[in-house]
Amino acid sequence: MEILHVSAECYPMAKAGGLADVVGALPKYQNKLGHVAKVVMPMHRTRFLYDNEWETVHKGSFSMGQFFYEFTVIKEKTNKLDFDLYCIDINGLLDREKIYGYDDDTERFTAFQIAVLEWLSRWEHRPDVVNVHDHHTALIPFMLRFCYNYHHLSNIPVTLTIHNAQYQGWMGWDKGVYLPAWDSWRWGLLEWDNTINPLACGIKCADKVNTVSPGYMEELMQEANGLEALFNYERGKCSGILNGIDYSVWNPKTDTYILDNFTEKDYEAGKLLNKKQLCKEFGFDFKLPLFIFIGRLVGEKAADLLPEAIIRAYAEHRDKFSFLILGSGDPSVEHELMLLNNRWIGYYNSRMEYNEKLSHQMYAGADFLLMPSRVEPCGLNQMYAMRYGTVPVVRRTGGLADTVKDYGEQNGYGICFNNASVEDILHSMRRALELYSETKKLNEVRLTMMQIKNSWEVSAQKYIDLYSSIQ
Ligand code: ADP
Repeated sequence: MEILHVSAECYPMAKAGGLADVVGALPKYQNKLGHVAKVVMPMHRTRFLYDNEWETVHKGSFSMGQFFYEFTVIKEKTNKLDFDLYCIDINGLLDREKIYGYDDDTERFTAFQIAVLEWLSRWEHRPDVVNVHDHHTALIPFMLRFCYNYHHLSNIPVTLTIHNAQYQGWMGWDKGVYLPAWDSWRWGLLEWDNTINPLACGIKCADKVNTVSPGYMEELMQEANGLEALFNYERGKCSGILNGIDYSVWNPKTDTYILDNFTEKDYEAGKLLNKKQLCKEFGFDFKLPLFIFIGRLVGEKAADLLPEAIIRAYAEHRDKFSFLILGSGDPSVEHELMLLNNRWIGYYNSRMEYNEKLSHQMYAGADFLLMPSRVEPCGLNQMYAMRYGTVPVVRRTGGLADTVKDYGEQNGYGICFNNASVEDILHSMRRALELYSETKKLNEVRLTMMQIKNSWEVSAQKYIDLYSSIQ
């Protein structure tokens, strides 16, 4: 089967979060299963772009409203990622360093989607299925079906994968003119709550819709940032497929970012060496338990609770633990967390940046990873942490509930709590400190976690089964 993934992100070309990790891994594992999976994404101006060789495979043009654009499709030459990676360049729109966050994101991603379809229209062969990811690409199912220009492609089945339903890409009706001429009596498919809602439109028009964990799909039926009724109505085509982890990137045995590689057999010594190195860099005492938080500092991740939780935890257990934060996001949370850097020198530090290498070193060297998320569609951090023998301390929600079992339960291995609240975080940190003091139990937990196979093989096959059901 030939699959074309359309996405705003793909690791290692451009990453803002879990979407990139999934789109960088899933096609690789689909190819291993004997299929041909390819990825097309915007040509963001990233390091990967400049460090690799590309060839131009297509040039075209299109109109979007009153604007005329020329675009170029390039392909990575050496099959470095184990799948074909295509990038689309549109001068003036996609030639930026960051992936998101510009005032004209609506124009940027609408144009990207039109360019993908223009290219697809002229490609010698057709994919058997198109898998679009999140709202940035969710107008494609509508455009394929109802824009006259693409009528000849209208029977290509499309799956929409939702990595995060909080962001829906809302745009005013004045932007409806951006879409190439379409069947105007279908306007209701674009609409949700009086605006064009690309994610809602994708849910209505795609043949299948999946989220990145079964638990998250169930939650969306109750709470989906305004789309609950739609998810319930479209329930029949909705399912959840748990993400896996890419062992060629996230493997303590081969990870080139970490100081000392280790396996299930020598993890005690291996983790200790990595912890010593990390603690040295931040001036921490390596004998103390080390907590970390890695991620976007936003409400979904409950990052706003961190400053108070940390202040109260130090008040309760002064000199008993270290805490390291890596993230970026809400400026007020960043500011509060940075202010704490001078308060417990030698015990606490925070880095407000995106740093892939440091994140690997933190997963490898830490004892506990805190994830108090209010919403977590799948969550990859907890899976990476487990792979590296770091105990996840998570709120039971979405994919976290699907992947972490409390160590108090039979065969459990993590620490779970129910509420995104400071009290629950503090209680869980107390439990973590207790676990840290019981070395034998802690090591049992570590070994159990490291042996869990959250592999992409099984999930990649589930995607194939999903596509097969709409052929
Ligand atoms: P999200 O909701 O952000 O997609 P996920 O848990 O699905 O959350 O994926 C987060 C991914 O982004 C992980 O690979 C994590 O290590 C990475 N990540 C998040 N923030 C940072 C950061 N500041 N520096 C490095 N990596 C980060």
